[in-house]
Amino acid sequence: MTQDFSLKSLDVGSLPHMDIKIDVYNEGAVLLEKTPSLVYLLRRELPEQALYFIKKHNEHFINKIIADIEVPCYAQLRDMISQFLQKFKGIRRADRGKYEVLDKISLVDEGKIAEVEAIRLYAKNICERCGIRRIEFKVCITGPVELSLAIGTLHVMEDISRSLAVIAKNAIINTKYAKTVVVTFDEPSFLFSPPPLNLENEDTRDLIVKNLERVMHPAKSHGVFSAIHIHASPDIIWDVRSLDVIEAHTDAHIEKKDLEKYDKFLKAPIARTDIDNLLLEKLGDKEKVAKAWSNARKGKIDVDIWCEDEKLMKNRLLDYIRKFGEERVIFAGPECGLRAYPPIAAIELLKRVSRVVREVKRRYGMK
Ligand SMILES: [Zn+2]
Repeated sequence: MTQDFSLKSLDVGSLPHMDIKIDVYNEGAVLLEKTPSLVYLLRRELPEQALYFIKKHNEHFINKIIADIEVPCYAQLRDMISQFLQKFKGIRRADRGKYEVLDKISLVDEGKIAEVEAIRLYAKNICERCGIRRIEFKVCITGPVELSLAIGTLHVMEDISRSLAVIAKNAIINTKYAKTVVVTFDEPSFLFSPPPLNLENEDTRDLIVKNLERVMHPAKSHGVFSAIHIHASPDIIWDVRSLDVIEAHTDAHIEKKDLEKYDKFLKAPIARTDIDNLLLEKLGDKEKVAKAWSNARKGKIDVDIWCEDEKLMKNRLLDYIRKFGEERVIFAGPECGLRAYPPIAAIELLKRVSRVVREVKRRYGMK
């Protein structure tokens, strides 16, 4: 596939749930993932819950396209840990959300992501509804470090990354109506380095680099951007050769010389999403924040309280371009997922981001 390095808007993944029975939704996703591809490709009927999942997922996903995000992530409405751990055998859910390792970990199904299948199956329909020629989208996958930490040991990372590499490969589609443009691995826990994650330890660093390389290789080798979503920027990421794009939070420390030396690109985080801090900064005290939440629950939302303004976003984007160079900033979007937002505010935030990206491209003659 040919890659387009021009600046595009992109979101992280999660959205607030809008009118959804989450139990049926989760069950439908699992059923869809367990249905062999041949069955639904032959147009055999899918279970009712799987059809419910597809309908609800695609409604949320279409909202991102309508908000004009150029590379929307599939709508991540499921829990980022259990969505992937439930695809593995060899582990068992134990007490208090912990997991027990019973055997070698491997996939229980073909290794598909239900959300990607929902887009693949109805791509033509989505294009027609949204008036677009083709869907160019992002896939997010919870990374091997994050999933190993959820299980509680780094010894499982090799088995997990082998399965994630299969999942990543299956998520790369290139059809008339849909194309995977980015595969991002979510690794937020680097920020906290919870035990047993000790980044000072050489063996641990080697293990992480090797396994990130394994999961990112399928995208890289298919001409799809491979990315990492991180809340901090440990120096080990530079050694992952198949990594293309760093999707970090606003306060992560990244230098231009490293991007150039290791040939990596940036997704510029142009809108903060730490909603409670933002509300507190805007409103001044906790009582007013609580009032804003209670109003939001009643449907009374002043979007200017919940979303940063476009001028601020534009200045951030221009700063990133000035600091790192136009050729290194290939995506821009909200800093993190929008699950915690009231739905109206989440969509408004995406609209603001996409307007800012389009304006900057237009004003500065970028493609
Ligand atoms: Zn994040």
